[in-house]
Amino acid sequence: MQTHAADLATAHAPRLVTEIPGPEALAVIERDRKVTSPSLPRAYPFVPKRGAGSVVEDVDGNLFLDLNAGIAVTSTGHAHPRVVEAIQRQAEELIHYSASDFFLPIYSEVCQVLDRIAPMSRPARSFLTNSGTEAVEAALKLSRYATGRQYAIAFYGAFHGRSYGSISLGASKAKYRTGFGPMLPGVYHSFYGDFEYIENVLFKHMVNPREVAAIFVEPVLGEGGYVVPPEGWMRYLRDLCDEHGMLLVADEVQSGMGRTGRMWAIEHFGVEPDILLAGKGIASGMPLGAMIARGDLMSWELGAHGSTYGGNPLSCAAALVTIELIEDGLMDNAVEVGRVLMEGLRDIQSRHPLLVDVRGLGLMIGIEFPGHDEMVAVEQAAFRRGLLALGCGENVIRMAPPLVFRRDQAETALAVFEEAVASVASGA
Ligand code: PLP
Repeated sequence: MQTHAADLATAHAPRLVTEIPGPEALAVIERDRKVTSPSLPRAYPFVPKRGAGSVVEDVDGNLFLDLNAGIAVTSTGHAHPRVVEAIQRQAEELIHYSASDFFLPIYSEVCQVLDRIAPMSRPARSFLTNSGTEAVEAALKLSRYATGRQYAIAFYGAFHGRSYGSISLGASKAKYRTGFGPMLPGVYHSFYGDFEYIENVLFKHMVNPREVAAIFVEPVLGEGGYVVPPEGWMRYLRDLCDEHGMLLVADEVQSGMGRTGRMWAIEHFGVEPDILLAGKGIASGMPLGAMIARGDLMSWELGAHGSTYGGNPLSCAAALVTIELIEDGLMDNAVEVGRVLMEGLRDIQSRHPLLVDVRGLGLMIGIEFPGHDEMVAVEQAAFRRGLLALGCGENVIRMAPPLVFRRDQAETALAVFEEAVASVASGA
């Protein structure tokens, strides 16, 4: 198993040995269609079996090059041997004990590391969760509790998860809300990157800033289309929060954990949040999220918030190793290989007008197409060639590979991507 995983990590991918999808994949899909929730937003018929590094093998033995990282999750690559070893060791010792009700050592160990790496000059405390959306819910509750205010501001295009508080804050696609209304009251939306609407419209016509608990913002927009905000915008939000006593909540569930070349995307903008939300890449694929807050905001009393599984020992063990690996080279790799991808994509853009925009930071890169149909066509064409990339927003393909992505893999990915673009451009 170990040998196989090592071989897979260094194998040349893509390598396709069947039609895509192959016969085994089709059998899984047929069963899946009968018994799983039809709400699951499957992008294409990819049926993964195992992965190592940035290569994933499907159930038919086809090797795919992974620009998805399980949707920005497997930061250290698939099945990093040190992460696997940490999980195995922890599983033999203790699989579960609720950290809400008792003092789980590895839970506070992770919180101590988060305090060290939090982009905050004051000491931070953390509440650990099983997912990004739970971290968002925790921040909604804490920001109301700590400020005694009821309203929140968020942005069109933002995605914060699928639970009620999160879909109320989020405003990326109407279908995430359709059939579920009414939403949580008291959330106002402004435009991502806009310098006027909050003050000139919301504060004048809709809500007194003295009643706003927090602004929730993704420092780089994720599901909404991989958008890097304009220069000075994050500073503007910070100043606005300071002026009116509102909290700045940075949702770094997708943009955090070294993906942009810094531990947190907000560090690119020289701004400190009051609360930071982490998830996805924090534990290399084990379910973990974190609400990291300025220590002085954590005024809530015993029992005000908790979770049976949040910060479970296996996820914590994976997180400790993951953070070590990210600090120990993977963040630098994100800068280096991110540059190769970005330059290569700009090159492709110079040859193919189908690419409207190429943008991003580190290994969080978005490629914009003229419309939704072109984006989907390229996404599907890439998949049929063994390259896994995923759409976001209306017309953007995101590249968010594992942070172990190598230069030679970036070069292969670029060549396959260009083929996919060319095939769509020529109508093939
Ligand atoms: N916040 C952001 C910025 C996200 O991108 C996501 C998921 O994509 C979430 C929150 C929700 O995370 P989860 O799916 O783990 O609940």
